[in-house]
Amino acid sequence: MNKIKANNYFVEFKQEGFDSLKKLIIDNNYSSIFIIADSNTKKHCLPVLIKKFSKSIKPELISIPPGEENKTINSCQKIWKTLSDKGGDRKSLILNLGGGVITDMGGFIASTFKRGIDFVNIPTTLLSMVDASIGGKTGVDLGAIKNQIGVISNPKLVIIDTEFLKTLSEREFKSGYSEMLKHGLIYDTVYWNNISNILNNGDLSTFIHKSIEIKNNIVLKDPYENRLRKVLNFGHTIGHAIESYFIEADHLIKLTHGEAIAIGMIVEASISVSKCSLKQSEANEIKSIFNSIFSKIKISDQDQENIISLMKFDKKNSHGNINFVLLNSIGEASIDNVVSVDQIKNGFDFYNS
Ligand code: NAD
Repeated sequence: MNKIKANNYFVEFKQEGFDSLKKLIIDNNYSSIFIIADSNTKKHCLPVLIKKFSKSIKPELISIPPGEENKTINSCQKIWKTLSDKGGDRKSLILNLGGGVITDMGGFIASTFKRGIDFVNIPTTLLSMVDASIGGKTGVDLGAIKNQIGVISNPKLVIIDTEFLKTLSEREFKSGYSEMLKHGLIYDTVYWNNISNILNNGDLSTFIHKSIEIKNNIVLKDPYENRLRKVLNFGHTIGHAIESYFIEADHLIKLTHGEAIAIGMIVEASISVSKCSLKQSEANEIKSIFNSIFSKIKISDQDQENIISLMKFDKKNSHGNINFVLLNSIGEASIDNVVSVDQIKNGFDFYNS
């Protein structure tokens, strides 16, 4: 599988990626190597990494509890302290071994420790392979507000190996699939048509490669999200608020990132019919595909009010307006749409119906 050139780094696949990691370590003569993992990736993915990695290199493991609720500045403080206590210095290297929580937070930790040290992303969920580990966005949540603190900072290398996916739960697998579907919706009609039926199709490698290419092409054109990169946020204005709200609300089950943005994409598809040129038939198609993958969740009027108030904190807002990425058609996104509360509620009605 061909490697992909990103912003000053490469995304590499399987053994080639691990070979490049060995070369990176030799070329840079790092003083120490740390692996940041969570308890699940320590159990399931560390043995795979050790198998593929040179035995002569002895990294120090830092493991944290799993889950979005641990993507906090408090976790960062503990890890910065461990790095410091264990002699980490400006010539240390961090390997982020995990899903998007680990690659987001580990990237942020590396970019701020001693004013920035090198890091490599080794994503282990489908979602982090096709999305979170690529593009340089790193950071943590601030209470219920997602990704409020962070920096854009690129890894030295990203290694994609689908062997890690063998231990991933079906629920987490579908979460990543949701972001892959988004890539088709915002950028590539043919990809949407090809990918919307692949769930039980075995090897996803070529689709993973294509999704990374789509995200990477967008990021290369607009790394700091002045315009084009915003399209990657389709489904996320509502989806992030839903994800945060479901973590905080005691009466609701926690959703995966992909489950939350799938609801966001259905609601925002409906808004796209009234605000942009998306056809009702296309919105229906989007809803039917996502509903065939994820169980329907009832979002009550009170939940909607609470979710809408969380959107006030969305990073994409400016001048007090809630800014949305919508669709002109399947395969073409439209940025900077100001949407009213009534239009959002109508979108939720479409989802609930
Ligand atoms: P995650 O990192 O929480 O991983 C999901 C679960 O799977 C965790 O319990 C983890 O321990 C477990 N896990 C990971 N790999 C495993 C494996 N191979 N086998 C068994 N279990 C495994 O969540 P995620 O869905 O990967 O990432 C979500 C995060 O990514 C969110 O915080 C989101 O904001 C962020 N994100 C960032 C970007 C970006 O551009 N930086 C883009 C999209 C999402």
